[in-house]
Parts: sequence; C-alpha cells; structure tokens
Amino acid sequence: MPNILVTNDDGISSPGIKSLAKALRSVGDVYVVAPETEQSAVAHALTLHRPLKSEKAGKNTYTVNGTPTDCVIISVNKILPVKPDIIVSGINNGANLGDDITYSGTVAAAIEGTLLGIPSIAMSLVRNDSNNDNYRKRISLLKTAADFAVKLVKKVLLKGLPPDTLLNVNVPNVPGIKGVKFTKQGKPVYYNAVHEISDPRGRKYYWICGGVPQWEPDEDFDFEAVQKGYISITPVHLDLTNYEALEYIKKKFKIIL
Ligand code: MN
Repeated sequence: MPNILVTNDDGISSPGIKSLAKALRSVGDVYVVAPETEQSAVAHALTLHRPLKSEKAGKNTYTVNGTPTDCVIISVNKILPVKPDIIVSGINNGANLGDDITYSGTVAAAIEGTLLGIPSIAMSLVRNDSNNDNYRKRISLLKTAADFAVKLVKKVLLKGLPPDTLLNVNVPNVPGIKGVKFTKQGKPVYYNAVHEISDPRGRKYYWICGGVPQWEPDEDFDFEAVQKGYISITPVHLDLTNYEALEYIKKKFKIIL
C-alpha cells in the first residue's frame, strides 16, 4: 500500500481535508498532518523563530501549530514512519488559480513536497460566494473533488510526475462537471483590491479583500477551464527562471565592470 500524506492550509478541522483523507484511504495508508488553525494565504512561509509542536488528533492524524510548509517538513522528517509516496494538499476552500497561487498555502505544501522529491498535488474547490453555497451542496461537491483526487493519485503513483513539477488542480463549483482540461497558469487582474475604511475614531485602516478578479481571456488558462465547468490541472514547476528573458538580457544587457 502506498503511503499518502494529506495536508492543507485551511486547518485540521476543515471539511475539505476530511473528505480528501476519507477518499484516499481507498488508495493507501493515509497520514493527515495539518495546521492547527487556518493558514490560508501564508504562501511558502517557514517558521524559524519559534518552536513548533505537533499533537496527535486521531489515528494517523496530527496537528502542527505552524504553516503548511512546516507541516510537510515535520511530517516527512519526524512524524511519518516512512517517506510518503505522494503528498496531497487540500481540498482548499476556494480556488487557487492564475498568479494567485503565489499566495497559496495549499500550493506551497505541494511545493515543499516537490522540493523534498515527493510527487505532490494541490487540490482546490472553487467557492461560489455569490450563491452562498449551502452546507449539503458543499459536502457533495467536496466528495466529487475527493473522488477525482483518488483517480489522479492512482495515475500519479503509476506514471510519476516530471521532475521539479507539481500538479495544481481546481475543481469547479458546479454539480455537472464536463471533464478535465490540462491548462496553463492564468492572469487575474484585481480592481478595488484594497478597501480603505475609517475606524470609530476616524483613523483610516485597510482591508485587502481581492474582490472578484477580471481574467485575461485565453482558453488554455486554468480560470477559463474552471469557468466553463471543467476540472483544471496545471503542471507547475519550481524553476522560476524565465529562459526567454535570460537569452534577451544576455544579448541586451552588456554590463561591463
Ligand atoms: Mn485555504
């Protein structure tokens, strides 16, 4: 049986991680190690300046009072009896699309797994704030996403992943999913992302809320696939070098000491 590490950034008590762990128990031995409290949008943060603690929270289930990245590092080095064959992070409560993945704790856990040489997948379920998802509908959508994670995990265990690459998966928030699309990272543009409000003493404060982004149109983009009712899978690599730009600056930037 393969060993599967399940983590997230929404915290140990989120419905998403419970659905995911439950579904993946049909594939292998599942270990759940997740942050004690929600850590959304902490990106790839690592806790270096305070000690971390892990508590047992159930069979093969542990909390860590740190970030998703802390969870992966501590799991792989200390908590798990064996190196996991695969890491699945999620199912995040909300999309992780386009450039926004650079903020994501969900994706960061998969980045950490990839850095440790373990095939890793980030799973997110799009939220529909305007419709105010009801709980039962949300649980049924989570089950759909978790069942898809089972299929994908089996595939990755069989075929492996290209080096230095994780899969970023987004499941649309619709009951009838049309299929699966392999996509590239899209480009959101946020308007009015920062709200300026006054406190009761008349002092300004700011609230970064993102709002609803506009997306550059391109049918290969992750956002467009999800918007059209498809599950989006983007292979994300960790080498941030822009190779085209490297050639360009080599030619154009003739800087002599
Ligand atoms: Mn989250």
